[in-house]
Amino acid sequence: MPIDATLPYDDQNVFAKILRGEIPNRTVYEDEWALAFHDIAPAAPVHVLVIPKGAYVGWDDFSAQAGAEEIAGFVRAVGHVARTLGLVEPGYRLLANLGRNGGQEVPHLHVHLFGGGPLGPMLSR
Ligand code: AMP
Repeated sequence: MPIDATLPYDDQNVFAKILRGEIPNRTVYEDEWALAFHDIAPAAPVHVLVIPKGAYVGWDDFSAQAGAEEIAGFVRAVGHVARTLGLVEPGYRLLANLGRNGGQEVPHLHVHLFGGGPLGPMLSR
């Protein structure tokens, strides 16, 4: 069920629980600003989620309210993870879903990092 990205942050969401260590995850990378872990239901040979450590519902509140250091830290973490996984030369896709039309299911900002093979058209037709 897609979420309403205008609602306040819910600290009981599954990624908040992962950040607090209450739910296990397969961590790929972690630093001060971000955590990257394998998606539980991969949609590509490589499917990693990168989330900021701060409490943001999605791209909207993050882009409007996060500090410059937080934004830089998160963006750099995404790039670092892609490089570390060897995805730059073969190429990869980044995706951030927001709200109902975006099909966002988890109300904590996450970027999907897809790779490991040709990813097909950008959107299903
Ligand atoms: P979205 O539709 O953009 O909100 O994507 C949410 C993603 O989170 C989906 O690809 C799910 O497979 C993934 N997901 C949900 N719960 C977990 C979990 N506990 N660990 C890893 N990935 C998860």
